[in-house]
Amino acid sequence: MSAVSGRASHPLLFAALFWLVGCTQPSAQQGDEAAAQAASPEPDAGVVLIEGACVFDGERDLGIVSMLLRDGRIEAIGPDVESVPEDARRVDYSGRYLVPGLVSNHAHVANTEGTEHGDRFYTRGNVIRDLRRFQALGVTTVTALGLNGDVFHALRDEVNADPSLGASLLGAGGGIGVADGAPPATNMGLEHDPALRPATPDEAREAVRRQAEAGIDIVKLWVDDLGGEAPIMRPDIYRAAIEEAHALGLLVAAHIHDLGPAKDLVDAGIDVIAHGVRDRPVDAALVAAMRGRGTWYMPTVQIDEANYLYAEQPGLIEQEPALRAALPQAVRAQFEEAGWRAQQLAGDGIAKAKAAVQTNLANLRTLHEAGVRIGFGTDSGALPHRVIGFAEHRELELMTQAGFTPRQALTTATRDAATLLGLDDRGTLAPGKRADFVVLGADPLSDIRNTRRIEAVWQAGRQVSGAIGDVAVD
Ligand SMILES: [Zn+2]
Repeated sequence: MSAVSGRASHPLLFAALFWLVGCTQPSAQQGDEAAAQAASPEPDAGVVLIEGACVFDGERDLGIVSMLLRDGRIEAIGPDVESVPEDARRVDYSGRYLVPGLVSNHAHVANTEGTEHGDRFYTRGNVIRDLRRFQALGVTTVTALGLNGDVFHALRDEVNADPSLGASLLGAGGGIGVADGAPPATNMGLEHDPALRPATPDEAREAVRRQAEAGIDIVKLWVDDLGGEAPIMRPDIYRAAIEEAHALGLLVAAHIHDLGPAKDLVDAGIDVIAHGVRDRPVDAALVAAMRGRGTWYMPTVQIDEANYLYAEQPGLIEQEPALRAALPQAVRAQFEEAGWRAQQLAGDGIAKAKAAVQTNLANLRTLHEAGVRIGFGTDSGALPHRVIGFAEHRELELMTQAGFTPRQALTTATRDAATLLGLDDRGTLAPGKRADFVVLGADPLSDIRNTRRIEAVWQAGRQVSGAIGDVAVD
C-alpha cells in the first residue's frame, strides 16, 4: 500500500516524508505501544481517533489517514480530521495497515464440534463460539448460508446488537433442499434436518414463505445431484422458490457444482451462484447471461482445497500463526496425526479435489475478466477441516492465483461482499459506515497473505480482538 496515492503534487516529496513517518518499519517503541493497545480491548465504543495507519478503504489506498469513530460508526476519515473532541481516545497505529472487516457471503456456524459435525451442534453457545472465531480472524460479517437451527433467529438479533458476541450474523435459516438429496442428511449429520425439502412448486413457495416469516436474510437452495448419486432439485421447484422469494423481496443463493444447473438457475433469475462451477469450463452463454442479469458468482475455491491442503502440508501449522489461532485443538491434533493424513490422501478423492480447484480457478479467471460480479465465501464451518477464519484468508490468496490483484481480492471480500448482501452500512471505510476494520502488521496490497498478520480487530467502533498470537479459539 503506497502512502502517497491520490496526492496530486510533489509525489516524491510526500513519498519521502511518509516513508519516514509511517507506512513501513515502525520503530520498536511504536510497535510496543500498538501491542499494548491490542492486548487491552476497550469495552465502550465512545469517541475514538485512530491515527497513523495506512488505510485501504475497500476501494482505494488512502495512504496515512486518521479516522474519527463515534457511536460505532466512522464520522470522518482523512489526512486532517477536524473537530476532534478533547476527550476523544487516541489510538496510534503508526506503521500498521487498516482494511475493512471481511464480509463472508457463504459460511456456516455451529455445524461442528472438534472433529465432528452435525446439526446436533447447533446451539447458542456454538454459534457464538464460531462468530468469535470469525471475528478474531478479521471476518466481521458472516452469512450462515443454510443448516441453521431454530435458535438462529433470536440469536441473530442479539448478536447483531452486541459485537462482543462475535461477527455480525446473517443467514438463510435451514435452507431448501431435496428429499433424499442435497444437502445429504447422512453425510452432513442432519438428525433433526433443518432443511425444508419441498416436493412440488406449491410446497416450494410455502417453504420460502415459512422461512421469510421466520425472518431469514437470504434464501438458500441446493441444486446438485451429488456426482450423480442423488436426485437433483427439479427446475419447476427452484423456479417457484425463486419467484416467491423475489415477490417477498428476498435474494436467492444456490449451491451448485456443475455448469448445467448453474446455467438454468441464472436463466431462472437466481441472484447468487454460491459455489464455483467445477465440472467443466464455463461457456460464453453463462458469461453473457450472468453479466446481463448482474448475477453474483461465489467461487469458494477453498472448499475443495481444504480436502487435501492440511493433509499434504502439515508444516502449515508451524508456518501460519493465523492457522494455529484458527484451529480448534482437536482439529489441530487430527491434522498432526500421520495416520489421518495418509487416510485423507488415499483413494481418488484428492485427485478429484485438485481437478475441481483447477477448474474452479480457471472459471473464476474467465468470469472475473468478463466483468461478472464476484462475491466472497468459502463454506467454512460446514465441516471441521473447512477452518473458520483461516479458510477466508486462503480464499483471498487463491483468488490472486486466478488473476485478481491483492486490491481486487480485498475489494471483493469487503465492498462487493457487502453489496451482494444489500448492506450499505459496511464493506468500505467512509463517513457514516460502521467502524468494522482489521489492523494488520504488514501491507496486504503488496502481498495478500499479509491479511493474516492481524494485530487487532475492531467492530462497531470498539476493539473486539487482539493480535493473532494471543487469540485462543477453544
Ligand atoms: Zn455451504
